Amino acid sequence: MRKYSLPPYKIKMVEPIELISREERIKKLKEAGYNPFRLRSEDVYIDLLTDSGTGAMSHFQWAALMQGDESYAGSKSFYRLEKVVKDITGYKYIMPAHQGRGAEQVVIPELVTKDNMYFISNIHFDTTRAHVEIAGARAIDCVIPECFNLKEYHPFKGNFDLVKLEEIILDKGQENIAGIIMTITNNSAGGQPVSIENMKAVYEIAKKHSITLLIDGARYAENAYYVKHREKGFENKTIREIAKEAFDLADIFLMSAKKDGLVNIGGIIAIKEDFELFQKCQTNIVPKEGFPTYGGLAGRDMDALAVGLGEALEESYLAYRIDEVKYLGDLLRDAGVPIQYPTGGHAVFVDCGEIAPHIPFNEFPAQAVSNALYIEGGIRPVEIGSLLLGRDPDTKENMKADKEFMRLTIPRRTYTMEHLRYVAESLIRVYNNRENIKGLKFTYESPILRHFTAEFEPAE
Ligand SMILES: *Cc1c(COP(=O)(O)O)cnc(C)c1O
Repeated sequence: MRKYSLPPYKIKMVEPIELISREERIKKLKEAGYNPFRLRSEDVYIDLLTDSGTGAMSHFQWAALMQGDESYAGSKSFYRLEKVVKDITGYKYIMPAHQGRGAEQVVIPELVTKDNMYFISNIHFDTTRAHVEIAGARAIDCVIPECFNLKEYHPFKGNFDLVKLEEIILDKGQENIAGIIMTITNNSAGGQPVSIENMKAVYEIAKKHSITLLIDGARYAENAYYVKHREKGFENKTIREIAKEAFDLADIFLMSAKKDGLVNIGGIIAIKEDFELFQKCQTNIVPKEGFPTYGGLAGRDMDALAVGLGEALEESYLAYRIDEVKYLGDLLRDAGVPIQYPTGGHAVFVDCGEIAPHIPFNEFPAQAVSNALYIEGGIRPVEIGSLLLGRDPDTKENMKADKEFMRLTIPRRTYTMEHLRYVAESLIRVYNNRENIKGLKFTYESPILRHFTAEFEPAE
């Protein structure tokens, strides 16, 4: 058997990329204030900032764009998308949104019916947490402790801690829980999957306490692929069947279609059967996203999404996608670079606290390693550590993240294994020179979401 799956497509349109010289990279990074977010993409050779909206569409999707019906209300494109989402989920009520956070801002406030409510998630994604807080509720994360053990294998590190979940519900009172959010795969924990067994148990707990269960399913297809290959009893089911089983175990599905929708923009709201909630969301979506049958998307976007959703459920596509990430992870691990193991569905998380223990957390080891990787190879990763975490709102002190991660996020159908081998070789060279990496000091820091705009200089 082959160690890694083969790509089930060939390339028929290309976008040139250029590796500018090392001297230029040094200059560009300095101009960008030592913050990769501030680099121009033309100065980046391989862009691993995110897998969101960065994938390549198929020729079927590009052809579907041409059928876009740009009617404001009740377009043919909407009904094509609606049919696809209904078939996949089995849910009754479907609305498009401009992206995942658009879906969140429509639905989440409708679930917060009074003061002092809570949402519980395996781990809330950043924008989900933000919408929970904007709606006046609080977000509690409840993932299994194995999630934080980077070196030990566990097939489903995204799983809910069921004991803790029940404890939280009893402690806060079930009437104060606005919803339970099942994030699949668990984005913030490295795209780690959740088992169907765990979803079932969470569903039973939610039903027992009359709590609404939401799937935050940006990567639901990748999750179903893991279930097929890691969970007993699912070996012979199709990805679609497994995904459907997951949807049966929830009430609402929110999706950033920029991930497993295989489109560059788009989101989905799907409600299983609560007509009253659907009506409220229909009212809410108009001022926030747009009329309920376009939700911030053009007709052509909805057509591309209708096709992309089907392609993302194809097993051959998923096999190559997941194996690409694994391939990069294996190359790094074999060279001794500390990463989260096993790798998740969309990214390799590199433990920079271990690579650069000589850099204190408030000089941002993962940002420093990211910068070194840009200079070494023109590669743009993203920091997921103390820089992202920010300052304590009360004391204004820098908070220390549990882990100083650098995330190498793999766009869908965009880079080949050849590109990823180059990424690994570059990072291994950085790793072998790790003693020389210097920390960073702020020269500019914005009061909120500082990681996007901060500027630095190398610390002495
Ligand atoms: C990306 C993402 C979102 C937000 O979606 P956007 O399309 O970026 O607005 C929400 N939840 C999860 C799990 C995500 O990965």
